[in-house]
Amino acid sequence: MKQAVRVAEAQEIVLGCVQPVGVEKVALLEALQRVTAEEVTAQRHIPLDDNSAMDGYAVRHTDVASATRDQPAVLEVLEILPAGKSPRHYIAPGTAVKIMTGAPLPEGADTVVQLEHTDGSDTRVQIYRAPRRGSNLRRRGEDIRQGECVLASQTFLRPPELGVLASVGKAQVLVYQRPRVAILATGDEIIDPGEPDTQGKIINSNSYTLAGQVAEAGGSPLLLGIAPDNREVMSQRIASGLRADVLITSGGVSVGTFDYVRECLAAVGFQARFWTVAVRPGSPTTFGMVGHVPVFSLPGNPVASMVTFELFVRPALRKIMGRRDLFRPRLEVVLQDAVEKRRGVRTLLRGVLHQEDGQTTVSTTGPQGSGILRSMSLANCLIDLPEDTERLQPGARVQVMLL
Ligand code: AMP
Ligand code: MG
Repeated sequence: MKQAVRVAEAQEIVLGCVQPVGVEKVALLEALQRVTAEEVTAQRHIPLDDNSAMDGYAVRHTDVASATRDQPAVLEVLEILPAGKSPRHYIAPGTAVKIMTGAPLPEGADTVVQLEHTDGSDTRVQIYRAPRRGSNLRRRGEDIRQGECVLASQTFLRPPELGVLASVGKAQVLVYQRPRVAILATGDEIIDPGEPDTQGKIINSNSYTLAGQVAEAGGSPLLLGIAPDNREVMSQRIASGLRADVLITSGGVSVGTFDYVRECLAAVGFQARFWTVAVRPGSPTTFGMVGHVPVFSLPGNPVASMVTFELFVRPALRKIMGRRDLFRPRLEVVLQDAVEKRRGVRTLLRGVLHQEDGQTTVSTTGPQGSGILRSMSLANCLIDLPEDTERLQPGARVQVMLL
């Protein structure tokens, strides 16, 4: 077996090999959780005009400056102005327009008095209280100025960004394409859920966890089913997987007699970049390229499959999707349990975060065997123990990756 690379080095190698597969224009509603591939600038001011932020009266401030409940200012109401209509009148001294929220401010007015501080009349209004000059207005361009860059390229689009795009009148936006990610399970013992469960069989969970992880990372999963441990069939399935943008294989990369994945990859021109990684779980993880297609061969153990996806595939898919932030957020927290690990091997334990007395602590989910998928299901973080650690006592500070 070739020399194992360290996790950080393996991540660098992977990210050095992958790039975006392309860009496409999509309608706004399809742009959620995609990443912009263009800089978006505003073609107009938002708001377009000064308009009222309140239901009330558009006035000249000097007319109402000294108004009180005992000595109200009295103004002639020239019109009632709904939102969406243009004012027909100029506000001369002694006049006002009854104005609704969002309606453009009539010329001559400089202030809006809110309805609650008046008698509400449609003809001659009594104003009981003067706001400060310029109150209750939304100024032209106060949200976004014409020509301003509202979204940089490579911005991840959440609901507020969709709103910003809509506000500047963009019905379509250029985004990075989702990579199509083929997922091939392998193993004579693997059957799909719902198939008759005979002795010695194991139900395929990896295709489903991987498909979920791919989708969550923004890719489009493509399930290629289960290849038996047979060189010809496996090679054919691998070849068909190479029509996708990325290929993930599951299992068959250990040192067992029937672990044929590496052999089959070699037969289709696989250029390996690493064969094994100094990590637990997941050391047999193999990565390389067939032409332009990155191929990740992940170990078969369900936890190893998920953890190695997290470490190597997820950042790669995010880079392909145009994202700038490739890795999970990390936190330094206090360990609750005593743990032991092998020196020289980066180790990821499944953890649960707790918040007590203003301190964040982490406990392990219990048994950490790489076949115990429930440990992933219980976890909300991975406790990331560096290569040079061997033994840790409760109270030690550790790094976690937030899932
Ligand atoms: P392998 O690397 O092929 O020897 O697989 C290692 C372990 O993972 C074996 O116990 C397999 O049964 C299990 N395994 C492999 N593929 C899957 C899968 N798709 N779903 C669930 N378990 C799997
Ligand atoms: Mg196998």
